[in-house]
Amino acid sequence: MGSSLIRQAQVAVVGAGIVGLACALSAARRGLSVVLFERSPRAVGASVRNFGMIWPVGQAPGKIHQRALRTRDIWLDIAPKAGLWAQQVGSLHLAYHEDERAVLEEFAGEAPALGYEVKGIGPGQIDAYSKAVNTQGLVGALWSPSELCVDPREAISRLPQWLHDEYGVVLRFGEPVHAIEAPLVHTSQDTWQVERTFVCSGQDFESLYPETYAASGLTRCKLQMMRTKPQPEDWRLGPHLAAGLTLRHYAAFEICSSLQAVRDRVTRESPEFDRWGIHVMASQTGIGEVTIGDSHEYGDSITPFDRAEIDDLIIDYLRTFIRLPDLAVAERWHGIYAKRTDGGDDFIAEPAPGVTIVNGVGGAGMTTSFGLAEEVFAGS
Ligand SMILES: Cc1cc2nc3c(=O)[nH]c(=O)nc-3n(C[C@H](O)[C@H](O)[C@H](O)COP(=O)(O)OP(=O)(O)OC[C@H]3O[C@@H](n4cnc5c(N)ncnc54)[C@H](O)[C@@H]3O)c2cc1C
Repeated sequence: MGSSLIRQAQVAVVGAGIVGLACALSAARRGLSVVLFERSPRAVGASVRNFGMIWPVGQAPGKIHQRALRTRDIWLDIAPKAGLWAQQVGSLHLAYHEDERAVLEEFAGEAPALGYEVKGIGPGQIDAYSKAVNTQGLVGALWSPSELCVDPREAISRLPQWLHDEYGVVLRFGEPVHAIEAPLVHTSQDTWQVERTFVCSGQDFESLYPETYAASGLTRCKLQMMRTKPQPEDWRLGPHLAAGLTLRHYAAFEICSSLQAVRDRVTRESPEFDRWGIHVMASQTGIGEVTIGDSHEYGDSITPFDRAEIDDLIIDYLRTFIRLPDLAVAERWHGIYAKRTDGGDDFIAEPAPGVTIVNGVGGAGMTTSFGLAEEVFAGS
């Protein structure tokens, strides 16, 4: 079990994805001494593979929407301090079918009373929001100013160093935690004595507390993604863009009784989108690359192999609502996150005294983790 020297900290965090970083930040801001363990030399899990969308508009009304807004505010606070690119670009949902327009209108009518800052806009107004939208056949849109864009690769690689510089968080990269016997945490190199441990291991359900994970109702979800080269001549997408398929994906739109008609039409006319869980969104990094995705495959159906068919479906659908100067794909990858099968927004468990698992943030970890971590610490 490593050297005989036992090191000490008040809090150990296992995993330097966004959930672990958020827990480390919350603990450090409470004045606690923190050690952060990441088994890889740098984090390469779901947190570096996403769009970098901070997406409050899609989150369910009430607690989760508030958690997303709080997370957005924390990103805005720490980004300049940590030297991260972050922009509050907002988002546009675009409608090309009457049933999609009906959902956007219903949402624009109901959602402001629930705390969403959204408004419906007509096709004639779209140019003022984004030059990238395909206006042919556009019948309506929904504008939301609350969404933020970060570059996940930059953020996840820089935040640990900032946590170290600002709060003295001890960084232990390339050091897997292989056992926890509270108050002891055993890594590949050392044993640490801590008061609390937060296990933020993402889609690794096997290494620590496998029995808890087996009973957790968590599953894995695989998403295929693509990225273009930087667009020419400083071309900007403007807001994050999404269209009708996305209305089926986010909990926020479930307040709309008109949503079922969209679901039924997609199932009838293009079952391949349901089959692969495809909805299509685009974001743009500070240096101009456009990130495009995604699909959703769950549990045992996940293979290590990416499907060209899925990428083609995503690109074909993207062309229906975005005009990109250069749609040549420069990178393709997939990412896997942990998600609750019952639709819940997080999984918090105490598998042993002094040990808390923080996981299950699904497809919204960049959007909810900072707020979630604050809630976890406030409740402890
Ligand atoms: C393709 C894709 C697109 C997405 N788009 C968005 C988006 O735009 N906006 C959004 O809000 N969310 C998005 N998400 C969801 C978001 O990325 C996830 O919710 C989030 O990254 C999960 O973070 P995590 O820290 O739980 O997991 P991870 O990022 O996977 O981190 C877990 C870390 O724990 C480490 N680890 C595991 N076990 C150990 C151990 N025993 N010892 C040491 N280290 C260990 C792993 O190496 C890993 O680095 C997307 C996800 C994917 C896959």
